[in-house]
Amino acid sequence: MRPSVSDQHHVLHPWGRLHPAGDSEVMLEGDGVYVTDGQGQRLLDGIGGLWCVNVGYRRREIAEAMAAQAMTLPFYTAFMESGNEPSTRLALALAAAAPGDLNRVFFTTGGSTANDSAIRFLHLLANNTGRPSKKHLISRADAYHGSTFLTASCSGKFSDRADLDVLDGQVHHLSSVNPYRRPEGMTIDEFRDARVAELEACIVALGAENVAGFIAEPILASGGVVVPPEGYHRATFEVCRKYDVRYISDEVVTGFGRLGHVFASEAVFGITPDVITCAKGLTSGYVPLGAMILSDALCAAADVDGKAVFSHGFTYAAHPVACAAAMANLRIIETESLCEHVRRLSPSFLGRLQALADLPLVGDVRGMGLLAGVEFVRCRRTREPLPASAAVGKQVAAECRRRGLMVRPLGSVIGISPPLIITEAQVDEMVGILREAIRVTADALTRSGIQLD
Ligand code: PLP
Repeated sequence: MRPSVSDQHHVLHPWGRLHPAGDSEVMLEGDGVYVTDGQGQRLLDGIGGLWCVNVGYRRREIAEAMAAQAMTLPFYTAFMESGNEPSTRLALALAAAAPGDLNRVFFTTGGSTANDSAIRFLHLLANNTGRPSKKHLISRADAYHGSTFLTASCSGKFSDRADLDVLDGQVHHLSSVNPYRRPEGMTIDEFRDARVAELEACIVALGAENVAGFIAEPILASGGVVVPPEGYHRATFEVCRKYDVRYISDEVVTGFGRLGHVFASEAVFGITPDVITCAKGLTSGYVPLGAMILSDALCAAADVDGKAVFSHGFTYAAHPVACAAAMANLRIIETESLCEHVRRLSPSFLGRLQALADLPLVGDVRGMGLLAGVEFVRCRRTREPLPASAAVGKQVAAECRRRGLMVRPLGSVIGISPPLIITEAQVDEMVGILREAIRVTADALTRSGIQLD
């Protein structure tokens, strides 16, 4: 069962050390909601790969669709108005599922390239409409939008920026929208209104004629599973409309059933943005693919003379094998009623997690659909954080792993986004392990001299 090759000297991992101390962890196989590691330990995959394996592992339908397409037409360029049948079918399916007039699909290789493409489209819009200064972007603290230069510049996880450069002066970050971290004495409604007012003040200060867009995840995933206050999405959307600022809804994590709908922007949050970007659950991670879905109105606005060209694209965009995988994936979501399953299971999933709040360490449990975060603190009454040196998220994740559960450490938060096919019994298994892992971590922190209240 053990991997027979060593990766230590030859593989540079995303967010990995340049010279790791040893070989990395290798997963050997997956089945349903479980993965098996190199020691043969079976683990419940509570993070769904990386927030993406929505329909679960070992889905024959997807593998067969990919194999059939590879034997039919493995590749042909989508450049300069060429196409292939799976990508056309997929574009039609995405346009049908997207809200309002979001009907124009541009395929990419993942989430970063989808967001990068959306921003570059806003550049095209500004240039083609004679407003070349309308290029500034507004994002938020805790956001993650990708790892290209442009999208890393939009991301608001500032600790990730230590050693790499970002775009200078064109992206502006608003404060965190985490209600749990709102100022002392402020109600959640006041907090929401303050954050909305901050967006408006930022646009006014920059001059609306200089602001191209606002980019926002409906729920900020890797920034700590931050669920903005109720009404925030609608209110920020209206501010954007007021000032002709385009709204990019980054649904890379929230799409394809995670919140109980194919897309969450309109169905859950009541907004029809100018652009939805997506990836991850689009193929359930079986093969890389992303997309940005533009509104017809935005596309028309950028095409002032009917001759505009979007001079931007990726060799593997609209890849036929990836699009065939996505179609098979969407069929599973539909035929197995996975969105309905998520909506049905979500209250008990979140309820069982919320019951962990009786444990020391657990400050906040939040989420929606089958997406959740648990934030750990030193003092639950004052919400005082633990010292970063305690690496509490990593400790809890390690204790979970020992007991057969994968979760994702995100600083002092752990993220949970299991495959959508998870059952009630598997949720019980997951929460049971989590409870024990938190208890053991709390004991270890206490033994190390940290006093928990
Ligand atoms: N946007 C969000 C919300 C994400 O969570 C991610 C990845 O985690 C991305 C964009 C980037 O996607 P990718 O890693 O596929 O480029």
